[in-house]
Amino acid sequence: MFLDVLKAPFAVPVPAVISRSQEGPGEMGRAVLIPREEQEKMKELFKINQFNLLASDRIALNRSLPDVRLDGCKSKVYPEELPNTSVVIVFHNEAWSTLLRTLHSVIARSPPRLLAEIVLVDDASEREFLKASLENYVKKLDVPIRILRMEQRSGLIRARLRGAAASRGQVITFLDAHCECTLGWLEPLLARIKEDRKTVVCPIIDVISDDTFEYMAGSDMTYGGFNWKLNFRWYPVPQREMERRKGDRTLPVRTPTMAGGLFSIDRSYFEEIGTYDAGMDIWGGENLEMSFRIWQCGGSLEIITYSHTGQIFQEFPEIFPSNSLEIPRRIGQLQDFPWPGMFDGSCLTIPGVVKVDYGDVSVRKALRESLGCKPFSWYLENVYPDSQIPRRYYSLGEIRNVETNQCLDNMGRKENEKVGFFNCHGMGGNQVNKNREKHLKNKEDIFHGIKSHSLNSPLLTLRHLNSNQCLAEPSEEDRLVPTMRECGGGRSQQWLLRNMTLGA
Ligand code: UDP
Ligand code: MN
Repeated sequence: MFLDVLKAPFAVPVPAVISRSQEGPGEMGRAVLIPREEQEKMKELFKINQFNLLASDRIALNRSLPDVRLDGCKSKVYPEELPNTSVVIVFHNEAWSTLLRTLHSVIARSPPRLLAEIVLVDDASEREFLKASLENYVKKLDVPIRILRMEQRSGLIRARLRGAAASRGQVITFLDAHCECTLGWLEPLLARIKEDRKTVVCPIIDVISDDTFEYMAGSDMTYGGFNWKLNFRWYPVPQREMERRKGDRTLPVRTPTMAGGLFSIDRSYFEEIGTYDAGMDIWGGENLEMSFRIWQCGGSLEIITYSHTGQIFQEFPEIFPSNSLEIPRRIGQLQDFPWPGMFDGSCLTIPGVVKVDYGDVSVRKALRESLGCKPFSWYLENVYPDSQIPRRYYSLGEIRNVETNQCLDNMGRKENEKVGFFNCHGMGGNQVNKNREKHLKNKEDIFHGIKSHSLNSPLLTLRHLNSNQCLAEPSEEDRLVPTMRECGGGRSQQWLLRNMTLGA
């Protein structure tokens, strides 16, 4: 099905649209609207890369963009002496017009002395036009451009590693293959790295509509975080960070994580902190792993609000495997954190995963050791205190019934559904419970944990607030659901909390 689309006659690239006036389609970042009679064709083309290719192909490869910077950013003067950068762009079956627009925007809007070269890494694309046609095209451009080809599909991380290793600039700037850089995007990134080589910097990421290719300014009021499921998410810049910057929105935002598509890093620092974790496949999650590592191992991560770069925001193309579960599991192993135990708030019942093969992490753990990296709890406490993940736990781990020796288990159900009961497997996943307080919350049901015996005992009874009953072992009829009974029932109402990592 996908290959059929590839072979469709209109999948060949349009000739480079280079001459333009400010009036042309998409100029100044305006939206391109496709007339009704072409909607069918537009929909067909959309399937190829999960964006409106017909619209993209109508826009000049060097289209003009609005200057979306805050006023205070426009007049900023940078030191003459800045490190230069290699721009590394990896791609897999990227569309011609979006890839070339990325290149043209880099070339047009980077001071030549700062742009050492562009390194393109083709992650085993199948499309013909990305072969000789691309080589011939880039030869005519005014900047040294190399194209490296992965022999087989290797994924974003390994492709980027290849590009980084072959590059020569003092700084490495990674870009996705469907970006547009705006005026003045590069200088502030390099200037910050010059000030502090251990700062890894991201521009504000503007949105290029996947539908109309309209260019929309990203916000300087959001920063990168992540949720329980270890998905990268944008969140409002918290008050404490606004205060640290004394309300000056042109100052860099210290961000807990980066989106990953676009950032600059000092080359030697990139190597020093261990580049990427090449044990991660395809893409997704590598940005979080790297963000954690940067912060934990002595660096910092910032959004430079002077710098804007647009990126097409697409739904994930079907050709890529969805964010796989090996990656959260692998990150969890690196961080000694029971990911992907999927917990949320203080609820018990979020589906998780138990057995996934996350590969060998010993080398990466040794690296962290040798770098003297701080633990995840430090990161949560100091870098991301606004996180949904509580810094301190009363318990984090399984809840085992003393009588039956079985565990509370969410049975892979959706969040907020009733909890189940199953053999303890000690693998985390659905049996990981996390509680900030000594109580257990499930939907509207709140249980208060009451310590049995001595103060140091990990044994609890769990008293239901509304009914005043206690959580107990299942009944004979249904061995898979815990019951509620009058309190005082002895061992069948005693629960052993086993902490897995971060104790309170
Ligand atoms: N990419 C790649 N190999 C892959 C997957 C992705 O080279 O196996 C490239 C892709 O062409 C793009 C970048 O990696 O330049 C990021 O991928 P994508 O845009 O799909 O990710 P998203 O921006 O949606 O996170
Ligand atoms: Mn992308």
